Amino acid sequence: MGTAVPNRFRRPYGPGWALVGDSGYLKDFVTAQGIQDAFRDAELCAHALDLTFTGHRAFDDAMREYQETRDTKVMPMYESTAELATLDPPTPEMAWLLEAVSHSVPAMDGFARVAAGVTSPAEFFSPEYLGQVLVPATAD
Ligand SMILES: Cc1cc2nc3c(=O)[nH]c(=O)nc-3n(C[C@H](O)[C@H](O)[C@H](O)COP(=O)(O)OP(=O)(O)OC[C@H]3O[C@@H](n4cnc5c(N)ncnc54)[C@H](O)[C@@H]3O)c2cc1C
Repeated sequence: MGTAVPNRFRRPYGPGWALVGDSGYLKDFVTAQGIQDAFRDAELCAHALDLTFTGHRAFDDAMREYQETRDTKVMPMYESTAELATLDPPTPEMAWLLEAVSHSVPAMDGFARVAAGVTSPAEFFSPEYLGQVLVPATAD
């Protein structure tokens, strides 16, 4: 749904070529993460190539690590974006949670960090994290 962007991961390297940004990994832009994703990929890719050209790592090993690091970092936001891009209303559980977040300043700050791509949705929506930031609000 959303804007009908194809959501996909590509293997971002091969003999003589490498991909960064949207060419390697694309998702709906409803969560506005693509620019920082592209910068992060460029940094990870440049680091992997530096290790290769300075003789510290084999090309395939360094680039596989680049791909694995990218995929691990972006997967929670990828899944969250795919869910948001359906434009379905939130589930009752999510609606309750967002209502609870709106009554806690630390939780609102945390949610803003998720939207900004600083905190992973996996970390924010974990029971451990929400337990910490929501308890003060419900105790008022
Ligand atoms: C409508 C819209 C709104 C968005 N809003 C946001 C937002 O608010 N925040 C955010 O973070 N992201 C947003 N995004 C996503 C973001 O724009 C992209 O994720 C980001 O620009 C990807 O950067 P990139 O360098 O990988 O690719 P691009 O920015 O697409 O750059 C690729 C470049 O390569 C050029 N090119 C292609 N083929 C060739 C070729 N054969 N030879 C030479 N050049 C070529 C293209 O012309 C282009 O200039 C939005 C995207 C869209 C479409």
